[in-house]
Amino acid sequence: MDYQFVNYLWDDVVADGLDAVERLRYRSNLLGADQRITNTGGGNTSSKIVEIDPLTGEEVDVMWVKGSGGDLRTSKRENFASLYMDKFMALQKVWASAEPRGPKTKIEDEMVALYRHCVYNLNPRASSIDTPLHAFIPYRHVDHTHPISSIAIAACKDQERLTKEVFGDEVGYVKWQRPGYDLGLLMGKIASENPQYKGLIMGQHGIINWADDDKACYELSLDLIEKGARFIAQHDKGEATFGGQKYQSLGKSEREALLVELLPKLRGMVSQMNRFIGTVHVTESVLQFVNSHDAVRLAEIGTSCPDHFLRTKIKPLFIDWNPQSEDFSALLNKLESGIAQYREDYAAYYEACKHPNSPAMRDPNPRVILIPGVGLIAWGKNKSESRVTAEFYSLAVDVMRSAEAISDYQGLPRQEAFDIEYWALEEAKLRRMPAEKEFARNVVVVVGAGSGIGRATALRVAQEGAHVVCVDLNADAAQGTADMLTTIYGQGIGVAGTGISGCGSAIGLSADITQRDSVQAMLAQVILAYGGIDNVIVTAGVFVPPSKAGKISDKQWDLTFNVNVKGLYIVADEARKIWEA
Ligand SMILES: [Zn+2]
Repeated sequence: MDYQFVNYLWDDVVADGLDAVERLRYRSNLLGADQRITNTGGGNTSSKIVEIDPLTGEEVDVMWVKGSGGDLRTSKRENFASLYMDKFMALQKVWASAEPRGPKTKIEDEMVALYRHCVYNLNPRASSIDTPLHAFIPYRHVDHTHPISSIAIAACKDQERLTKEVFGDEVGYVKWQRPGYDLGLLMGKIASENPQYKGLIMGQHGIINWADDDKACYELSLDLIEKGARFIAQHDKGEATFGGQKYQSLGKSEREALLVELLPKLRGMVSQMNRFIGTVHVTESVLQFVNSHDAVRLAEIGTSCPDHFLRTKIKPLFIDWNPQSEDFSALLNKLESGIAQYREDYAAYYEACKHPNSPAMRDPNPRVILIPGVGLIAWGKNKSESRVTAEFYSLAVDVMRSAEAISDYQGLPRQEAFDIEYWALEEAKLRRMPAEKEFARNVVVVVGAGSGIGRATALRVAQEGAHVVCVDLNADAAQGTADMLTTIYGQGIGVAGTGISGCGSAIGLSADITQRDSVQAMLAQVILAYGGIDNVIVTAGVFVPPSKAGKISDKQWDLTFNVNVKGLYIVADEARKIWEA
């Protein structure tokens, strides 16, 4: 096939030099490299491979499948779980003897704990809840992904009919069901009873497809995604997308000036319970959405793919502000009341959907805020999380565009969304996370971070979980410290963020603290990168040695005073302006 909507990346020269497990890792990385195929952390892949059993020395069938918490794009061999197929299949007896059994029953969650009894070769990687989706499909290789084109078809009102129209008899359909043991059994049954099927569209979720050859499985994944994308492209509404444009985008400098003034205030509004780190995401696609007539209606429906809304919450907050006719204070007022309303709606959703054993309500503040003319602002507990959140809503925008091109977009029923968001297994994952460090959720600006005490300070606060802005008169030295921190703590996950907002947990900036405009420009960059500033530490200083006669010139004295005294004052004064605003 001549692909227009996905990139064909398979290289036989590379693949043929790999063992069977590495070929699975390779296939997974290729699929994960394209956001049109799957989102960060989303989807999973598997291969059933004949291995030598360390217990008997005999050949045994082992399923290698992406483990819990992994990501296809960055997965390494150790991110895959490995399970004896015969043991895993034998678990069906446990399931069959449980009463009651079925989707969302107690036994369904309990099955997950039993997967550990099937581990091959002491592999410590925990199996994910999607493991049965792979095990019961009677083919050697299985890809489950969250492609834009597949979710779009799966999120239409007439999703089953569209699946038939787009794929004919090649792909079947299974309606939405929370992933787990029961869904795995159901999909395995459909695949066994319909040998003509090469895959299934999973309602409100994504796609799964299979083959007995791994390269064929990869190519099939691309073929099906391409097929869906072509169908959608043929129906693209062009300028009438999202009901047409209602507002115009602000120019880049106007937008950035507005964001510098807005973000610290907005961060304060959403951080009443927990402090958040922001990511600004502005693409043509996002702007087309926020500026459109349909944005109010579609934003209210919320995201569809469960992977998306676990990060974005069930819906974003859309602020219907006219960037052409309304001023900044009108925007602030609308944000104040919009966020208050959002919290009320969220509490009402929690009350209406909760079960007697549901975990307590989580932070009710919006994670995604949409502003016409400006774009998307996402919030998370750290930079990596807020980038993921921005990525996911931006993918959701593409899903909505595609779904509305071919039909009417629909979200998950509220109760289903709740049962994912407050799933006991998700809660258990949250509880297993290590406690947050002292400077977690904080943005710390260290002036003088290029060397000496400043660099040591930057390292120290980063160790305590801070997002660190390394500032120095010497730009290369500032960047050097930031690079060192990134090497230690990593760039995180999530592919989003416009300009400097696409950064990781450390950045390097240059500033001359004796010049007020230089300090202002530096702090503006910090706000665009993270949404606000929590602490400023100034370690910059100079010592000008006197001449042999013990004299110091007026010029030298000016420099000493400007850096060591006035510079501190300017930095503190400019930071105060941001905090007081
Ligand atoms: Zn999935």
